[in-house]
Amino acid sequence: HAKKQGKNRFYWFEDTMENELRFRNQLETGIRVGVERGEFVPHYEQQVDIATGKLMGFEMLARWQSPKLGLVSPDIFIPIAEEIGVIGDMSESLMRQAFTDARDWDPSLTVSVNISPVQLRDPWFSQKILKLLVECNFPPQRLDIEITESCLHDNIGVVRSMITSLKNQGVKISLDDFGTGYSSLSQLRSLPFDRIKIDRSFVSELKDEDASSKIVSAIISLGNGLEMPITAEGIEDDRVLETLKGMGQMKGQGYLYGRPEAADQVRKRLSSAGLLVEPKAASDDTSD
Ligand code: C2E
Ligand code: MG
Ligand code: MG
Ligand code: MG
Repeated sequence: HAKKQGKNRFYWFEDTMENELRFRNQLETGIRVGVERGEFVPHYEQQVDIATGKLMGFEMLARWQSPKLGLVSPDIFIPIAEEIGVIGDMSESLMRQAFTDARDWDPSLTVSVNISPVQLRDPWFSQKILKLLVECNFPPQRLDIEITESCLHDNIGVVRSMITSLKNQGVKISLDDFGTGYSSLSQLRSLPFDRIKIDRSFVSELKDEDASSKIVSAIISLGNGLEMPITAEGIEDDRVLETLKGMGQMKGQGYLYGRPEAADQVRKRLSSAGLLVEPKAASDDTSD
């Protein structure tokens, strides 16, 4: 009897594995096909100067508009896209959409994009970005590339030269999710970052005088010393905002300012704020 139970359990286990594999295969196929069909779309989260409340730009956050699953979070599809080798094409399609969207926004507004460590293993990475900027007629000065510490583990020499060639054209580089990775501090020396983004785990629960607030203050002093301005991510309420305001000058983003929104929502928001540049019709180009 015991043996039979064991056997049943084994079949059950095998069944579950089989279902998981089937689901995983369907996801992979869905993602592959989705990249070809343009189902990956940018959403945008506001980045604001916390002292003045002035809108400074947006972080582009990828969403998968899946015909089967609805709107899927990047935490699900980015790791799979990396594994099956489509992250480069996906990212290129997202950036093309973002640069095109942002061309109609006030030229003071920046666009931050997240770049996967896998993309930095491509020796043509920086050339591809610069080519895309030219094709989309988007100024490199308005682009900010966010990388995490996991980008800095392999082949730092190659990464450094790619980052340098982007910076030479005016692209900015930010260190994302600062404080969560392995040996964060040494990463600050490895590349000439333009900005540090403090991870939301230190920000969202921030209270005066607690451990998080001491860590955030220390990161801000570090940023001042290294002449790297700070962005605080994950600002969810007024109390946290007030605490941060007392700590110094920085940019902030988070649900307090707004959830990530699709391009047409951003357009409406910017239009009512007078921050939309009406796109020129093609025939206007010669009217000068
Ligand atoms: P991230 O770059 O650290 O982006 C911030 C994440 O925190 C976003 O999640 C954003 O929606 C969320 N968030 C922002 N403000 C708040 C807040 O006040 N409270 C809380 N609880 N959450 C907040 P999302 O959009 O799910 O993205 C997750 C991660 O996926 C991103 O983390 C980024 O690492 C990655 N990702 C997103 N888009 C791309 C992409 O196009 N390429 C790559 N390689 N990774 C991407
Ligand atoms: Mg980011
Ligand atoms: Mg982040
Ligand atoms: Mg994060």
